[in-house]
Amino acid sequence: MKTEFDVAIIGGGIVGLAHAWQAARRGHKVVVFEKTSVAEGATVRNFGMIWPIGQPAGELYQVAKKSRAFWLELAEAGALNVEACGSIHLAHNDDEMNVLQEFVDQQTHEAEIISPSDVCQRSALVNPDGLLGGMYSDTELRVDPRTAAAGIRYWLEQEFNVQFHFETLISAIENNELISSEGQKWKADKIIICSGSDLLTLYPEHFAKSKLVLCKLQMLRSIAQSEPLPENIPHLASGLTLRHYTSFKTCPSLERLKSRITMEAPELDKYGIHVMASQFQSGEIILGDSHEYGDDISPFDKLEIDELMIRELKKVVRLSDWTIKEKWHGIYAKHPDLPVYEEDVNEAVSLFVGTGGAGMTMSFGLADRFWSNR
Ligand SMILES: Cc1cc2nc3c(=O)[nH]c(=O)nc-3n(C[C@H](O)[C@H](O)[C@H](O)COP(=O)(O)OP(=O)(O)OC[C@H]3O[C@@H](n4cnc5c(N)ncnc54)[C@H](O)[C@@H]3O)c2cc1C
Repeated sequence: MKTEFDVAIIGGGIVGLAHAWQAARRGHKVVVFEKTSVAEGATVRNFGMIWPIGQPAGELYQVAKKSRAFWLELAEAGALNVEACGSIHLAHNDDEMNVLQEFVDQQTHEAEIISPSDVCQRSALVNPDGLLGGMYSDTELRVDPRTAAAGIRYWLEQEFNVQFHFETLISAIENNELISSEGQKWKADKIIICSGSDLLTLYPEHFAKSKLVLCKLQMLRSIAQSEPLPENIPHLASGLTLRHYTSFKTCPSLERLKSRITMEAPELDKYGIHVMASQFQSGEIILGDSHEYGDDISPFDKLEIDELMIRELKKVVRLSDWTIKEKWHGIYAKHPDLPVYEEDVNEAVSLFVGTGGAGMTMSFGLADRFWSNR
């Protein structure tokens, strides 16, 4: 039997949910197909950091801030809990402090330099040894990545009657018809492929030409720390992080910082390691991360990477108990130049894949841009 929808989304990760919401709020009848029984891709494996500060000045920073507003709207509507926690970039080296100062001086982002004592007052996790100061930004949010997708999904069902089909692999699309691996069929006027890191099931020939690459990240989660927890503890990023996000590319001192790391610790470059920490109200802290691309990706996680991350984390944060409760890895697709790879395969079908390391931050804003331009 064929069912008619205005919009069909393939993929129940954050990108698919963002499209489902943006289409539904414009009055479309929407259906989402997800091959697993519950979303388990990058969307549940990340830090849960909504991180506008990492986006370069201009359109992408604006898109990130719009996304942020959408997250707050979801929280307001009761779909999930969102903490307006902000973030601190820590400087334990002169060159890191220089980059932060240059960045703040550009006045492109809502950020300020704060003193070491102010840093430590805002987060008890910070290692004060050798701390020169930090950069505070209040645009960052925290969501629980393990429950966020489920919360949004229930809310979309209730508020907009969006239909979800889990354990449904869409294996073929012919004109406006979607066909599952079990032979079920549905029809939709518009079909958006939000397949995350799966670039092989649908339109592999298009993805092969897209320049998208896969990236694997290793992550850690500590046991709950014993201290009582205030709300909204800022996310922490180390000086190493300044090498990672494109927002800092405009800072003249960045090259000197990068050269120092390359000379002092080439192993960090090799595995794309920079360190961040986010403490949840349970007291547990998500710690990470590393970046291995393309052919370097192995199904097996490297103990060496975990040890390097902990080594670097110990320089910038202090935990009362470093016992690691969980380790995992996640994989996302990333485009070298674009915030997401968008391609209209034909009038009915669009590819919307490859939000890289900023999918939680950018998806709502990018999907809003897509639907506003239709
Ligand atoms: C370790 C890690 C940390 C990160 N930290 C952050 C962060 O703190 N902040 C941030 O902004 N971003 C972060 N990111 C990036 C962010 O998580 C991703 O950009 C985002 O989750 C990608 O979402 P997605 O929906 O494209 O992919 P996914 O979450 O992988 O979802 C794609 C879904 O499509 C389904 N699917 C694929 N093909 C089919 C098919 N044919 N039929 C049916 N279903 C299909 C898959 O089963 C999957 O559930 C991180 C990523 C990782 C891996």
